[in-house]
Amino acid sequence: VNRRQFLSATTGALCASQSIRADASRPNIVLIYADDLGYGDLGCYGSRLRTPNIDRLAAEGARFTSFCSASSVCSPARAGLLTGRYPARVGVPGVYGPDDPGGLPVHEITLAQMLRAHGYRTGHVGKWHLGSRAPHLPNNFGFHFFYGLPYSHDMHPRSLMLNGEVIDQQAAAGQMTQRFTTEAVQFIERNVERPFFLYLPYTAPHVPLTVSPRFRKRSPFGAYGDTMEEFDWGVGEVARTIDEAGLGPNTLFLITSDNGPWYQGRSGSLKGRKGESYEGGFRVPMIARMPGRIPAGLVQNGFASALDLLPTIGSLTGAPLPPAKLDGVDITPMLTGEAVQVDRPPFLYFDYYNLQCARIGSHKLHLTRYNTRAWSPVPAAGKMNLPLPRPELYDMDDDPGEAYDLGETQTELVADLRAQVESHLIEFPAHIDWIYRETMARAVEPTDPGALPIVKN
Ligand code: MG
Repeated sequence: VNRRQFLSATTGALCASQSIRADASRPNIVLIYADDLGYGDLGCYGSRLRTPNIDRLAAEGARFTSFCSASSVCSPARAGLLTGRYPARVGVPGVYGPDDPGGLPVHEITLAQMLRAHGYRTGHVGKWHLGSRAPHLPNNFGFHFFYGLPYSHDMHPRSLMLNGEVIDQQAAAGQMTQRFTTEAVQFIERNVERPFFLYLPYTAPHVPLTVSPRFRKRSPFGAYGDTMEEFDWGVGEVARTIDEAGLGPNTLFLITSDNGPWYQGRSGSLKGRKGESYEGGFRVPMIARMPGRIPAGLVQNGFASALDLLPTIGSLTGAPLPPAKLDGVDITPMLTGEAVQVDRPPFLYFDYYNLQCARIGSHKLHLTRYNTRAWSPVPAAGKMNLPLPRPELYDMDDDPGEAYDLGETQTELVADLRAQVESHLIEFPAHIDWIYRETMARAVEPTDPGALPIVKN
């Protein structure tokens, strides 16, 4: 290569990179996904835990107060997030264990595949939990780069992987946030010259609640507080890398969680926790920052869900959407503050293949419920999903704590909402509607609203 050829090639590369950097139509996407972070666990959502970096990002962008995950547990929530489709529809109804041979079906198209086909560099750093064996690992679903765990960090062996190869057979649980943050920062630094998608599903604050030495015993709120402070530090490092590279205005920065809090942590004033279809299981924080596009300090009270992120990112980037039936809708007008709500079909709360609740407008309808508590220490041999003696109805604007059932008096509204849900369910794979109808045909004893249903003997 002579000097002239070199200069010519370099100039060409510079021009190309400048045109990409100036290409606001393909903003970078940074999606930070916390694990079991409750609705009430961030400072900007009313917590006393110290999360100054996340609070600052919320102040610089939008904070959603009525944003639901696609599930109240890990694997299905991730399937919904990455496909824009209900996990029950996709076929990821429950959580994968380390020995499960299955995973996200290979024909599903993820956010990473959508953006990669649109010229993005795609990286996954953190916890996958959509299958731990080929062909279900992230590199098969559109990620150029994968560094992280195949499943939760309370599962064993805790195998840290790099692009499908195990690089640490028994990674220290307390090092996860440090390692993921380092890799995330390096991924951004490697890709500042082109559009990129960084998916960063941290293991925090899921159990085990262990942190690196510098964060030990720092919080007045115990191990959970320490874990949250380190998580907040990691978010801050990633945001600082984006901002120092001058990428802030051209980066959609998202922070949300897969489900509500488990044994520790707080769901705010919401009812229920991880593994339940009350709001405390499904409703999670969601922060979106993109200076110039998303107004600073916006508090968005309209309903939205994690299923909406794929179609919304498609809209913001111009990436063609996957051809499969999507359950999410484009919420760009809610991000920009132009609208409080967009048209959407009923939002359905599934546990496994069981439809339990639906959100329509400001109302939430409870139709079925398990006859046992989630995570009951007593072996639930007779665990069944049962219909409620009559549907319960809650007004989510006036009563987000699902404390005051209106179903007894608002019978016409209940019948109308139920009909909407049932006609929507017909469009699902046949077994889902079949399971619902089978459940609704079961006989139950009369019980009070809010009680666990009891099968009639
Ligand atoms: Mg989780």
